[in-house]
Amino acid sequence: MINELNDEQLERYGRHILLDEIGYEGQLTLANKRVAIVGLGGLGSPVALYMASAGIGELTLIDFDSVELSNLQRQLIHNEQRIGVNKAISAKQSISILNQETRVNTITDKLDDSKLEEVIIHHDLILDCTDNFDSRYQLNRLCYQHKTPLVSGAAIRWEGQISTYDFSKKEQPCYQCLFPRKINTPSNESCTQSGVVAPLLGIIGSMQAIEAIKCLLNLPTLNGKLTIIDGLTMQIRQFNLIKDPNCPTCNNK
Ligand SMILES: [Zn+2]
Repeated sequence: MINELNDEQLERYGRHILLDEIGYEGQLTLANKRVAIVGLGGLGSPVALYMASAGIGELTLIDFDSVELSNLQRQLIHNEQRIGVNKAISAKQSISILNQETRVNTITDKLDDSKLEEVIIHHDLILDCTDNFDSRYQLNRLCYQHKTPLVSGAAIRWEGQISTYDFSKKEQPCYQCLFPRKINTPSNESCTQSGVVAPLLGIIGSMQAIEAIKCLLNLPTLNGKLTIIDGLTMQIRQFNLIKDPNCPTCNNK
């Protein structure tokens, strides 16, 4: 537990401290928060870098995949020297150069429910930066069960979307309310098969980082809303999410 910011921290985080919504107390709050990032790919790259640079106290990076040449178009936390290295390990190396104060844990296994629950219980917020529906539903279900806020982003081709599910608040819709699980639909369409324009990951990942900071500081978030960005037209649309009374994840009260 950090009780006060030292002179170096006051200088490093000065531009945050100048903001009315963050200030000294907010920055101190961030320094005492623990955040888990699931997926250190295109979204996880900016998310992890901003969480570290913004002064979140402890990060847990989760990815079982290794860096490949085809990742470097958009996964900017990795580089050519790290091809073949586990992505969580590679991301930790980049963070250690950026901000040595950030405590970083790495998990390099694919997590089953009980192991993922263990992670969720010990963190203040989870960032879903995965690229497949199975992981998204799993994170949504377990975060809902433990009332842990979840910031979820996705990007494919030219379109990105983001929402925050603050399960600490009552009667919120969940990810599965928005995307009911249908049988016979391809469950794992990802940018690996469909392509994605590189900077879109930077936009959506950066927005996830802003949402995470606000959620940790109890500032207004996208909770109950979905924002969609079309990179071709640069149109940004926002929708209100509606709780599905038949949702298998969040209706069983
Ligand atoms: Zn639901």
